[in-house]
Parts: sequence; structure tokens; C-alpha cells
Amino acid sequence: MSEPGRTWGVIAIDLGNLRVFNEWYGREKGDELLSAVASYLTEVQRKGSAIAGYWGEDDFSVFGSVDTALVESIYHALSGIIAQRDASLGFRPAFGVYLLNPDERMGMDCYTCAAYAARQAKANLHHPINYFKEHRSQEPNNDFKILSCFHKAISEGDVYPEVQPQVDIHTGKLVGAEALARWHKEGGGIIPPGCFIPVPERTGFISKLDKYLWKQVITWLSDCLRKGIEPVPVSINVSRIDIDEFKVSEFLIKLLQSHRVPARYLKVEITETSFLQNMDKMTRFTQEMHDAGIKVMMDDFGSGLSSLSMLRNINIDIIKLDGNFIPELALNEEEKGSNIVFSMLTLANSVDKPLIIEGVETTEQVRLLDELGADYAQGYFFYRPMKLELLTKLLASGLVQRGSISEPSADFD
Ligand code: C2E
Ligand code: CA
Ligand code: CA
Repeated sequence: MSEPGRTWGVIAIDLGNLRVFNEWYGREKGDELLSAVASYLTEVQRKGSAIAGYWGEDDFSVFGSVDTALVESIYHALSGIIAQRDASLGFRPAFGVYLLNPDERMGMDCYTCAAYAARQAKANLHHPINYFKEHRSQEPNNDFKILSCFHKAISEGDVYPEVQPQVDIHTGKLVGAEALARWHKEGGGIIPPGCFIPVPERTGFISKLDKYLWKQVITWLSDCLRKGIEPVPVSINVSRIDIDEFKVSEFLIKLLQSHRVPARYLKVEITETSFLQNMDKMTRFTQEMHDAGIKVMMDDFGSGLSSLSMLRNINIDIIKLDGNFIPELALNEEEKGSNIVFSMLTLANSVDKPLIIEGVETTEQVRLLDELGADYAQGYFFYRPMKLELLTKLLASGLVQRGSISEPSADFD
């Protein structure tokens, strides 16, 4: 894209925090603000050579012939539109701008650059307009490289959820399944979430990924129900950033309602670390989930430093034991009392919470777990994560049976 005397670019516009605005002034005012911004940007589009776009929530963009004067005028106009509607909270938009090289083509990764710069602007009160500086002709930082591919992958459907069943150890019945993100690489192969999740988490894009995956999970649940196949409840991973960024409960309730999926088919997993970082917030969140009829699991239990009293005080429904403890099983077979897994089972039992043990890989581990009194597990021994279509086939085949998770039995020793 080149034309003498013109600079092409993308402006990523983040209005600030629409969720807080909606909570403070009401949804109607929030919608009215969005429509005023949309009208203004449509007008910008009508007058010039730039094209305005809306990305959902409070994210807008302008593509086309862009210079600093245009950026500043849009910034001041939008600040004015917000100021007219916000007397007390001091909302302000954050802008990220990406200017293309003369010989560069406009593409999705240009928007990624602009959105990345907008994220940084949002975090920096002194620079609400941030120009993307790290040009791709220089050595880009790794985060950015991943993020850039990641946006493209989402838009092309290369990121999707797989599901890994959770089972009742004694009966083999399926009691649930966890949705796990998968990124199918161009040219074949999968990039494991451990390699890419930390990047969108650091840069705040995790919420886009999670919303996208949750929609697919709920669509799958609704498809099963429509076809008369009883699904198992699916648990989704909710990051602490999701809870900070948007109203997760509202989002999930709406999604369930619009797909006519009863809330009992959905569960959420929140890590122990997220709980420990902000106990009050997580307790409130768990309550919101309960009000919506959604159960909450504490994920990766044992990786933080939860105490018995903390477990007693929080309102979670199910505990998932971190898979890192599994190797301990084989070491301490004789000394049941000093076995960490056994201690965790006792702890969970004392607060009447069911425990799912992650990372179970061998027959021997299953035998030891059974001996220790464990009831539920998730691991390669039973099932590896699989495509949603495969789980549909398994459920429809009648080869697997469905069970449910209940509180620890009284005869636990
Ligand atoms: P997690 O929530 O603890 O997920 C369980 C991980 O254990 C998964 O790794 C799963 O594939 C792996 N696993 C299951 N059974 C076994 C086993 O028998 N042996 C071993 N060695 N591993 C087993 P995965 O899929 O690589 O996910 C890693 C982490 O990435 C997850 O840990 C979760 O924290 C995060 N993650 C994955 N998908 C999402 C997502 O959609 N959203 C968010 N926010 N985080 C996600
Ligand atoms: Ca999890
Ligand atoms: Ca886990």
C-alpha cells in the first residue's frame, strides 16, 4: 500500500472501561455512549479516506490514511463525547497507533500492533496516545511475535478448545470434562497453551481468547442438547485477568441463555493462586457464579499455600489437585500418613469438598489413588485431551457412561 505524501496506519481505540461505566451510569447510558462514538467515527469515515470499525465491547479502530493530526482530533473528539457523559469517574480513552512502512501492506497484524500499543497506553496514565515503536524490520520482542501470530490464528480459526474428560476412578464414568486451549500451527502441529497463554495473560489479551473459547464450548453443549445427546458438564479456565477485565458472570449467563444451555452443564476453574491473590474478589466472583447456578473449582490446588481455615472459609465446590503431586504417590506408598496426596485428600474431606486429581498417567497410580481413597481423576491414563467432535461421538456411542461428582463419602479414612 503506497501513495506519495500519504501515511497509512491503524488506530486502535479503547474507550476506557465500559464495564465500570455501565455499572456506574447504567447500561442504557453505556449503549448511548457507544452509539455516539460510532456516529462520530462514521462521520470521520464519511469525510476522509479512513475506515472505522467496531470490535465489540469498547474497542473501535480506524484504518486508512492516518497522521498525527487525525489521531489527535479523534482523540479530542472522543474525550469530549465521554466527558459529556461522565461527570465524576474521569474516563478517558486509550489510543494505540500503528503507522505502516511505505511498502507495507495493511493486514491483521497491523491492527495487532495498534492494539498492543493501546494496551500499553491504557496502563500508562501519562500517555493516552501511544505510537507502536517496535517496527518489524527490527528484532521484535518475543511477546509481540507470539501475540501477532495469535491474533491471526484466532481470526483464522486455528485456536480452538479440546476437552479432557474427568472420571470417577471406581466406575470409569465420565463426571465432566475440562476445556483446554489448542493452537494449531500453520503447517501442522500444536503449540501447547503453556507456551502461549502467558503472553496474552501478560498483555491482557487472554480475555479475548477465553471469550472466544467459551463461546465454542457453550455452542458445543447446545449442539449436543439439540441432537438429544446428554453432554457432561464442561469446566472452563477463568483467568484472574478475565475477572478484572469484564463481568464474567454476565457474559456467561448471557451466553448460556442465548444458547438455551442450563447452567449445570458449565463449571469454572480458578487457580488457587488467583484466590490467594485477592480472596475478597474471588469470593464475590464465586458467589456470582453460584447465583447463576454455575459450580466453581479451585484449580492447581497445592501449588499455593492455602490453609485449612482458608479452605473452610471459601465457597468453592470442587478442588483439583495439581498434577505435580502425582510422582509423590509412588515414593510414599508404605507410609500412607506422610503421603502428600493422602494429606490433601484428608484436607478436602475435612471441608466436605470433592477432589479431582490431575495428571494421572499409569495403572499403578490409579491403584494407589484408589487405595488412598481418591474418587475422581483427570489424566492421560483415562483420556487425553480430545477434539469436541470426538467427545460427541463417545457420548453418542453409548460406550461411555456418565456419572456425577458428589461430596466425599462419610466412610473416608
Ligand atoms: P491446567 O488448567 O492445570 O490444565 C491441565 C493440564 O494438564 C493440561 O495441560 C492438560 O493437557 C495436562 N494434563 C492432563 N492430563 C495429564 C497427564 O496425565 N499428564 C500430564 N503430564 N499432563 C496432563 P495444557 O492443556 O498444556 O494446559 C496448560 C495450562 O494452560 C492449563 O493448566 C491452564 O492453566 C492453561 N490453559 C489451558 N487452556 C486455557 C484456556 O482456555 N484459558 C486459560 N485462561 N488458560 C488455559
Ligand atoms: Ca484448569
Ligand atoms: Ca490444573
